[in-house]
Amino acid sequence: MTEGEKRRILPLAKSVVNLIAAGEIIIAPSNALKELLENAIDAGASQVEIMVKDGGLKLLQITDNGTGINKEDLPVLCERFTTSKLVAFDDLREISTYGFRGEALASISHIARLSVITKTEQDECAWKATYKEGELVGGFDDGIKPVAGKTGTILVVEDMFYNVPSRLRALKGANEEYAKILDVVSNYSIHVENVGFNCQRQGSGGLDVMIRKTANRKDRIRSIYGSNIANNLIPVEIDITKKFNGEFGLNKCRGMISNTSFENKKAIQPIFFINNRLVICEPLKRAISSLYSTYLPKGHKPFIYLSLEIRPQNVDVNVHPTKREVRFLNEDEIIEQIVLSIDQLLSRLDSSREFLTQQ
Ligand code: ADP
Ligand code: MG
Repeated sequence: MTEGEKRRILPLAKSVVNLIAAGEIIIAPSNALKELLENAIDAGASQVEIMVKDGGLKLLQITDNGTGINKEDLPVLCERFTTSKLVAFDDLREISTYGFRGEALASISHIARLSVITKTEQDECAWKATYKEGELVGGFDDGIKPVAGKTGTILVVEDMFYNVPSRLRALKGANEEYAKILDVVSNYSIHVENVGFNCQRQGSGGLDVMIRKTANRKDRIRSIYGSNIANNLIPVEIDITKKFNGEFGLNKCRGMISNTSFENKKAIQPIFFINNRLVICEPLKRAISSLYSTYLPKGHKPFIYLSLEIRPQNVDVNVHPTKREVRFLNEDEIIEQIVLSIDQLLSRLDSSREFLTQQ
């Protein structure tokens, strides 16, 4: 290499750029599953079925009975930044659906083999298409094949990371990846009512998650976490606007949390949804855990499921490519409002218990 060549700054090949971008969004099969689940829910599905092989690395298949995708839209389905959910940047503030960036399917098509079978109510048959690196294989005329199928969409993701061997090596193994998938499915099936969820490993012969569409929230929690938790729940329904005048942008906080007599020594990851998105919120988790430690015997752990509605303009969902971590304005104040309200709930429980035992 000559001196001159050494200093050259060259653009990366487009395929490499796409692969890097995709790898930031889809870190593991469970990230892909979260995106596909959200799409199914956005499409108005009332039943979602998930089939997994080898922790999602060999196969991840999601079947929904939602609206289906128009045949005319199939050519751009996996193009980056194509979405039916966002028209202007300002819409980002008001967005109520789960997706909005049109990146999920594109990313998946860069790191896996992706095919879709979809049918809208108007279609007479279903259409099947396969994607590679963002593009419809075979083009509109030859790539889209008529097949039998019901209204809705089946997305089939195979051989995830077949072209990213380093990522494959970094993953923990099929069992752990499947556990993460089950967590995502469980959390969404607790949060999203009026939708039925099934999840199974291919060939296992049994369902690991089975939630009927009509199940209420408590039954959903019972089905996933068992009776000990379900029998010790108290509903949380804080109308913040009444209590704190909607100050700081938190409009609502509701959910289910365990009471003060719940005996459990196993840590259970708290489930937080902010504006209907499954998120991780470490500061909220820490604050609630430390509140509970004043009520529970040493070493005992609570169950927490909370769904917050925060003024959409105040939430930044783009801090992390996987959209898993979020930031919102007035974080400290909002956490304080929630902790204060839960504290009141728990102390009321405690005093009524004392009252009962004194009688
Ligand atoms: P986003 O959800 O951010 O719009 P995606 O890449 O996840 O981006 O999906 C692109 C588009 O494909 C969506 O906007 C939607 O119109 C369509 N789509 C994806 N999955 C489904 C589905 N299961 N049912 C109906 N339409 C879907
Ligand atoms: Mg999406």
